[in-house]
Amino acid sequence: MSFELIEKHGEHEQVIFCHNKEVGLKAIIAIHNTSLGPALGGTRMWNYASEEEALIDVLRLSKGMTYKASAAGLNLGGGKAVIIGDPKKDKTEAMFRAFGTYVNSLRGRYITAEDVGTTVTDMEYVFMETPFVTGIPEALGGSGDPSPYTAHGVLMGIKASAKEKLGADTLKGVRVAVQGLGNVGSHLVNYLVSEEAIVSVADIDQEKVKLISEKHGLKVEDANGIITSDCDIYAPCALGATINDETIDKLQCKVVAGGANNQLAEARHGAALKELDILYAPDFVINAGGLMNVFVELEGYSADRAIDKTNQVYDNMMEVFKIAKDENIPTELAANALAERRIQLIGGLRQQHHGRTARPFSTLREMTNRQK
Ligand code: NAD
Repeated sequence: MSFELIEKHGEHEQVIFCHNKEVGLKAIIAIHNTSLGPALGGTRMWNYASEEEALIDVLRLSKGMTYKASAAGLNLGGGKAVIIGDPKKDKTEAMFRAFGTYVNSLRGRYITAEDVGTTVTDMEYVFMETPFVTGIPEALGGSGDPSPYTAHGVLMGIKASAKEKLGADTLKGVRVAVQGLGNVGSHLVNYLVSEEAIVSVADIDQEKVKLISEKHGLKVEDANGIITSDCDIYAPCALGATINDETIDKLQCKVVAGGANNQLAEARHGAALKELDILYAPDFVINAGGLMNVFVELEGYSADRAIDKTNQVYDNMMEVFKIAKDENIPTELAANALAERRIQLIGGLRQQHHGRTARPFSTLREMTNRQK
């Protein structure tokens, strides 16, 4: 069954089942592709209904990471881990340290990080057993919270989209509707306001809405109504799947460009946006700033370098738009094509000239040398 699922969900290089009965650890690490570099992706802890559900999730998410890293222009492959359990009840130090020993046994082929259901504290336990973990606290040589960098990348993607669709060289006077004022959305609003965009905001948390709208004097929309509000750019920064059968025909925006993951309910909604002449900035390209930030952590962290790196989202997005235009395909498919072509070209070159693992070793050596 497992091999069938692996074949069906993306032909992964390696899938590791990690089991330690004593500490209650049941985890799966999936390494999708390491052509460009070590497989990086977070550890998700979730109360999966079945082992099969957990396996499918880790296979899907790790493949997504391969595409995200490649389209971002990073020397990283795609991987992900899941721990089966209730993050509110089942966590222990021993569980995460046991998980850390499994990550360590892969000697840097897989590098982990925080994800849904895991925290910086959990990653500190992992770090006690292995250097191959990112997103650890700044005090331990890590890069801390990635959200400001994700938000800066999203700003760059919005700028590229405004240039492409509206012919605008700046965001001054461009109407941007931001849905979700959490870690990413709140930073994004700050950036947009300083660019003199006309920003409207919404969140289900009225305290956040009040705080941010009053601080900048912004128009407030209904939490879900904002999706179909009258604006130039709709920036989803809350949940996924807001572009769906219910919303798509009511959209008034010219561009969809925001930080949320999995914005399209189904792949066909990408084609539908194209039909409607609405430009879609593919989510995994526009929200790669956080990944760029942890990549800089592997090089030896500098916040300036991380911000600098997220500027790259502008060019990546323009490249996606160019492929979409040249080949008359939806931008989502163009982003996949960009990722696949880079893996083929650069991954192929690296294999030809110095073997798969030559480049990552320098970064991994750095990681191994970090102070514990
Ligand atoms: P967050 O939990 O800090 O913020 C999400 C916000 O959305 C919250 O304020 C919540 O109240 C609000 N929200 C939830 N449902 C809503 C609704 N129906 N309408 C309006 N608001 C609603 O999360 P975050 O870290 O800011 O991430 C936001 C999105 O960006 C997520 O989809 C996440 O997967 C994605 N993302 C985040 C990062 C990062 O660096 N944090 C990186 C890549 C992608």
